[in-house]
Amino acid sequence: MTQPIEHVALGSGREFDLVRTLLRRWQGAAQGIGDDAAILDVPEQERLVSSTDVAVEGVHFVREWFTPAQVADRAVTAALSDLAAMAARPLGILVGLVLPARWGDALDLLADGIASAAGRAETHVIGGDLSAGAELTLAITVLGSARVPVTRSGARSGDHLYMTGRLGGPGEALRALTKGEAVSPWSWARFAAPVARLREAQWLASHGATAMIDISDGLSAELNHLAAASRASMAIEVEQVPVGNGIEALKAVASGEEYELLCAAPANLDTADFERRFEIPLTRIGRVTSQGSPGVLATLYGNRVDLAPGHDHFSR
Ligand SMILES: [Mg+2]
Repeated sequence: MTQPIEHVALGSGREFDLVRTLLRRWQGAAQGIGDDAAILDVPEQERLVSSTDVAVEGVHFVREWFTPAQVADRAVTAALSDLAAMAARPLGILVGLVLPARWGDALDLLADGIASAAGRAETHVIGGDLSAGAELTLAITVLGSARVPVTRSGARSGDHLYMTGRLGGPGEALRALTKGEAVSPWSWARFAAPVARLREAQWLASHGATAMIDISDGLSAELNHLAAASRASMAIEVEQVPVGNGIEALKAVASGEEYELLCAAPANLDTADFERRFEIPLTRIGRVTSQGSPGVLATLYGNRVDLAPGHDHFSR
């Protein structure tokens, strides 16, 4: 562990007052804030892995559904999940925040949500930017490192396909909310308080995962991305996909914002050891059948099924 890095003294002005508010709230959750740019040490022999994720009010979330802390925690978690997908360990978080006046009172709570996501991932806010604007927007850049990042493109014929956790909660919550119906506590927790599978990703990488992706747009969409990137055909048995109580498997595979991991691995993984360590299931759901012509063949109890496409913000 490196020593905590001190913040640089800030000048005067309204924007810096807001930054001071954030820093007071964050305490140890932020490090080295206040210079023009953050400085990071990348562990020797590791490569820098970075990703940006944007959450926009009205596009990615509806204010009434969540507390401000949940809005911010979800945005940071979504970004961290992309580091997990690469089997990278986080080094720091940059927060771009567009704060409309009507959200001004919620700044402390937004800060709390950012801090809780950073804390779970054992990392810190190391910089960012703040602006006024029309819609609350969190543009979260995460920096991490890995000796050998796991990409989407390494799946090989004969690999097994595995996924972490249990799907369907966020999709179920979204359906219920838009219809004004009650949401089960499990589905609500999965939707409002997702977790990035960072430590689980380390286990999967160290047990030979050849390709990995996080389930942000739905399992069916991510399978297609994995197949395309690896130029491989994949067969998935939908009845094997672990789902929440009472949730239909065909709906669960289209459920987005799950932040579970889908990976390919050449050998049989010790799923019992994984479940003991992380208290979530690791389940074999299919295999990589051939290489050369990318595609996904889905069956439900032996019968071919078409999977609903995943979520695409530009397709509606
Ligand atoms: Mg992703």
